[in-house]
Amino acid sequence: MTHILIVEDEERIAAFVAKGLRGAGYSTTCVTRGREALALIRAGGVHLVILDLGLVDMDGFDVLRRVRDEQNPVPVIVLTARTSVGDTVAGLEHGADDYVPKPFRFEELLARIRLRLRGGGHGADVAVLTHGPLQLDLHARRMRVRDRDVDLSAREFALAEMFLRHPGRVLTREQLLSQVWGYDFDPGSNVVDVYVRYLRRKLGAEHVETVRGLGYRLVDAGVGEQPELAQR
Ligand code: CA
Repeated sequence: MTHILIVEDEERIAAFVAKGLRGAGYSTTCVTRGREALALIRAGGVHLVILDLGLVDMDGFDVLRRVRDEQNPVPVIVLTARTSVGDTVAGLEHGADDYVPKPFRFEELLARIRLRLRGGGHGADVAVLTHGPLQLDLHARRMRVRDRDVDLSAREFALAEMFLRHPGRVLTREQLLSQVWGYDFDPGSNVVDVYVRYLRRKLGAEHVETVRGLGYRLVDAGVGEQPELAQR
């Protein structure tokens, strides 16, 4: 399983990212200090690092520089509230593979992670999610229902992906909100319901069931058809 190290001293963000990554099929470790991060990276078994710049004991740039000084090629995605062009350039010069400014949406981070891991052959990078007549191609960013291509907005796509990754499981509004919209979104919003309605209109209402008082569930779309994960 692809293992991702999250180096972040803000517990709320670390927990949000870790939860999302586990849902996407990755294993995670969270640390808050640069020193711990360096020890784990040196020990091996880390396939990608998500690195905050403002850490308690060190600057994230120093962590990054040491990793690269040691000729360690592990992909590093810098995650930070610093958004100046100067910091972006510095991050890339220090050997970061990518740079995601806070606040960010989980789907954005996940897309960057997939991009960095692609070709690495670690196995978690599932290309096509299939459930009955529904087929979601994560690389081509394409949704098909039977033989029909369906146009989805980025948000609808992310929502469809959540359902297809957890077929048959009840997903609460809170889960969908945090995974698809991000930690900064107002929990009282009805945006999930609105987008589920959009999705039903596009995919067919029969695929997404309302579970009263709980949330939504992707239902078995056909007798004898099993949910399946296709690897590319
Ligand atoms: Ca920080």
